[in-house]
Amino acid sequence: MGKSSKDKRDAYYRLAKEQGWRARSAFKLLQLDEEFNLFEDVTRVVDLCAAPGSWSQVLSRVLIKGEKIGRAGWEDKQAREKLALHGRAQDSDITNDMATVEISEQEAKPRKDVRIVSIDLQPMSPLEGIVTMRADITHPSTIPRLLQALDPDTYDPAAVTASHPVDLVISDGAPDVTGLHDLDTYVQSQLIWAALNLALCVLKPGGKFVAKIFRGKDVDLLYAQLKIVFERVRVAKPRSSRASSVEAFVVCTGFCPPKGFKASLDNPLGAGAKLQPAPGTQANKAAPVRVVRPDGITELDMGSDDEYDIEEQRWIAPFLACGDLSAYDADASYHLPKDHVVLDPVQPPTAPPYKKALENRKAAGGAYGKTKLG
Ligand code: SAM
Repeated sequence: MGKSSKDKRDAYYRLAKEQGWRARSAFKLLQLDEEFNLFEDVTRVVDLCAAPGSWSQVLSRVLIKGEKIGRAGWEDKQAREKLALHGRAQDSDITNDMATVEISEQEAKPRKDVRIVSIDLQPMSPLEGIVTMRADITHPSTIPRLLQALDPDTYDPAAVTASHPVDLVISDGAPDVTGLHDLDTYVQSQLIWAALNLALCVLKPGGKFVAKIFRGKDVDLLYAQLKIVFERVRVAKPRSSRASSVEAFVVCTGFCPPKGFKASLDNPLGAGAKLQPAPGTQANKAAPVRVVRPDGITELDMGSDDEYDIEEQRWIAPFLACGDLSAYDADASYHLPKDHVVLDPVQPPTAPPYKKALENRKAAGGAYGKTKLG
């Protein structure tokens, strides 16, 4: 797909370039914040699977620079009034000027003692005030590196993780999609587990966790598991996330680890043998059973899949659409004004996988090498 056709199809893709976001995903986080006030009283954040960095950009602008970012999209109230729009606006009503209106720097109030650590498998171009780490979130060695990055001056490898409290962990992790739905959902679920285990190691009580999920057939189980360690679990679909995609986000607030719970990446939640309920525990099949092992680690007995198939025993997470209804529809195509200019990406990928292929092709003398076809 050429640059301009992508521009025509995807309003958020275009808007991201106009507003200087590295990826259209920025709008997802902004629309989640609109709905859930994610950044309230937040100064310490871990951004997992962060490249190319648009979520980190949002964090940097809101927390470090103290910008008050308006409605996530073009529908900012001031901009509407400026254009005196009535009803649903046409794409041609949107101007670059409008994009700047919605990011108001007038009320910029930088927060104190902000610490943001962003992690990805891919290298990420630096962002002001953000510590970036190239690491695999599913690997146990990532946690000590993360703890050190959070508090380089006080980090003690022997100390427990609770001494590195974080207010918010966000994860937009996605594998390279194969198109095989079950496989993609499985790999995605591994990323969610890894993100959750990292979150359990660093979140302070009352902290928040936001993660991308694929809504597969076993997603209810995930909600039930999250509900054990968070007071409130919601599933949200931002308007900037295409309706045609199975993507959604779990938004968990009020981190409340069970008494005696110790997070561990070596022995993570969700893995390992299923334990019998602790002696004297009444196994309640409607909810997972917490089992505190002799070594103090709490594991969750989720019961069998069959038990969870019984409808009335399920806990259903409330589902919310977020983002103003009059905002761009991520699945719609919009007409472009005649004078529309296609902008370059804000931050081209630092090490795109196709770079090597292009180099090889060039070295071979072009698209088909030097061999003449036909
Ligand atoms: N939130 C990002 C932003 O706003 O720019 C976009 C994230 S992108 C949709 C998904 C990212 O997940 C990719 O950059 C990919 O490298 C990363 N990822 C996938 N598996 C990972 C893993 N095991 N550890 C760390 N990052 C991973």
